[in-house]
Amino acid sequence: MRFAILSDIHSNFSALTRALSIIDTLRIDHIYCLGDIVGYGAQPNHCVSLMRERASFSVLGNHDLGALDPREADYFHDAGRAAIEWTNKILTKENTAYLASLPYKHESGLFTLVHASPQNPQQWNYIMSLEDAGQQFPHFNTQYCFIGHSHIPTVCGEDLETFSFVKGKRFLINVGSIGQPRDGNPMLSFGILDTDVWSFDIVRAEYDIAQTARAIIDAGLPSSLADRLFIGK
Ligand code: ZN
Repeated sequence: MRFAILSDIHSNFSALTRALSIIDTLRIDHIYCLGDIVGYGAQPNHCVSLMRERASFSVLGNHDLGALDPREADYFHDAGRAAIEWTNKILTKENTAYLASLPYKHESGLFTLVHASPQNPQQWNYIMSLEDAGQQFPHFNTQYCFIGHSHIPTVCGEDLETFSFVKGKRFLINVGSIGQPRDGNPMLSFGILDTDVWSFDIVRAEYDIAQTARAIIDAGLPSSLADRLFIGK
């Protein structure tokens, strides 16, 4: 089986459709989503509607929660909060209901899926160090735990010494971000796990950043949300 794991789409429809066009060439059996379908970008309804159609499963991200109730976004920086308040107003009933139906954490078969951390799925902690990563392994029972939230792709084995995927080990894997990469590389990022040959790869691809940036400006959202996409920060 082949699985595509997407995270942090952030209402970036141009990046999402580009990722799905790649996925459609790869004979993928299931698409999983790690949350933050909305926030920052200007096409939340397009993105949620498409993921409702395409994802076998999704979990809730902190921006999805903020879009449902902007009081949950008090700690966001100003631009992020402006975008989430705007998103809250324009989400359709059906898309709001979909986001409201998402769980914080999903475990089945080989996978645990969670937006931020398996240790505290509702606390939105960032896993940014080996020490942080090491603390997560006792908090999931499956072979693999996929996370997003930091927007920085990383593969980390349970021994905290293995940083590329191999069969038989347990891994905590951050698949990076479709809609707002932050590792200095503006290309979209997602993961492909193939359990026939036991491979995992991070896919990076260019997309039409100018189109996404224009949609952000046209919607009256802060221009910083458009500018950062070009530098991947
Ligand atoms: Zn995010």
